[in-house]
Amino acid sequence: MPDYVLAEYVWIDADGGYRCKTRVMHGKKTVKLGDLPSWNYDGSSTGQAPGEDSEVILEPQAVYVDPFRGGNNVLVLCDTYTPQGEPIPTNTRAPAKAIFDMDTSLVPWFGIEQEYTLFKDGTPLGWPKSKARAFGGPTVQLGYPGPQGPYYCAAGADVAFGREIVEEHLAMCLEAGLNVSGINAEVMPGQWEYQVGPCVGIDSGDHHHMSRYILNRVCEKYGVVASLDPKPVPGDWNGAGCHTNFSTKPMREEKDGYENYIVPAIERLGQKHAEHIAAYGEGNELRLTGGHETASIDEFSWGVANRGASVRVGNQTKEEGRGYLEDRRPASNMDPYRVTSMIFHTTSIDV
Ligand code: ADP
Ligand code: MN
Ligand code: MN
Ligand code: MN
Ligand code: MN
Repeated sequence: MPDYVLAEYVWIDADGGYRCKTRVMHGKKTVKLGDLPSWNYDGSSTGQAPGEDSEVILEPQAVYVDPFRGGNNVLVLCDTYTPQGEPIPTNTRAPAKAIFDMDTSLVPWFGIEQEYTLFKDGTPLGWPKSKARAFGGPTVQLGYPGPQGPYYCAAGADVAFGREIVEEHLAMCLEAGLNVSGINAEVMPGQWEYQVGPCVGIDSGDHHHMSRYILNRVCEKYGVVASLDPKPVPGDWNGAGCHTNFSTKPMREEKDGYENYIVPAIERLGQKHAEHIAAYGEGNELRLTGGHETASIDEFSWGVANRGASVRVGNQTKEEGRGYLEDRRPASNMDPYRVTSMIFHTTSIDV
């Protein structure tokens, strides 16, 4: 056994992307959260600090197994502070944690369905690269696959594209210790989904961000980019979302949890529709059109088993009188810290 551990510090940059660097922990055979020191990086290189005072402090918040290096090596999820100890503006974890700490008795669960699209050389996997035209028109244009229908939950080389990446991502997440609960191929060819959860409170954002980082790392091996664009291809192609499933202990456990807790929570979400939409991801207006299994961005709606609504309740929840709700509005590129804490605050704290 080596007498060092490699700790990969991971943090979120100004665009919601992931940055990482390695710290060799000499003289250690294993490390846990308390063993990992604060660190720093050059925030002027990530658009997160001015050049003359460029240091951003990294505070380790969660430790996972490093599935890439194996052994006792770790991935360390960090959030970001000024040298004076204030969370920097892009640190959305700190305010989210403060909201979850307001009432831990409700034990909020989140299950997030991350949709994403795999691209190689600027084209979604499985899509014809281009159509070069001999005469007239643009010489290079994107070619199109056959219309949507056969791709969702598909198997077969003509309908499922990128499975080795998807499988490797799932295996890596599980090895890391993330609570990933499933995967499926999506409606648009080259688009996939995985689900993280249920996770409690701030753990949801932590697991979710680390799952995205791992996706980037797996894709890197294949020269593929996982896009979180909510509408990666305009036209008659499904966008990509991050449906956020949510429940509190009374919603899940009480006899009339549906009537007494879930329905009132949905009504509160409806009252703050515009505020939520503003926090649910960039470019979401191109996705929430009212078509392609979405509700219009302008109007809040909800229903049982309705995939064209802003918020859906499953048949089972209504029948059993308890369970959870699904907020279908968040875009694929949303920040899970902001979305989960806002849902919790609107439905359960600000009441
Ligand atoms: P869909 O039918 O919308 O495609 P998925 O099966 O993809 O749903 O995802 C549902 C997610 O909700 C999963 O991550 C699951 O773990 C999570 N989930 C299940 N029960 C609850 C609950 N009571 N509260 C919050 N999330 C839940
Ligand atoms: Mn240097
Ligand atoms: Mn799903
Ligand atoms: Mn989906
Ligand atoms: Mn869903």
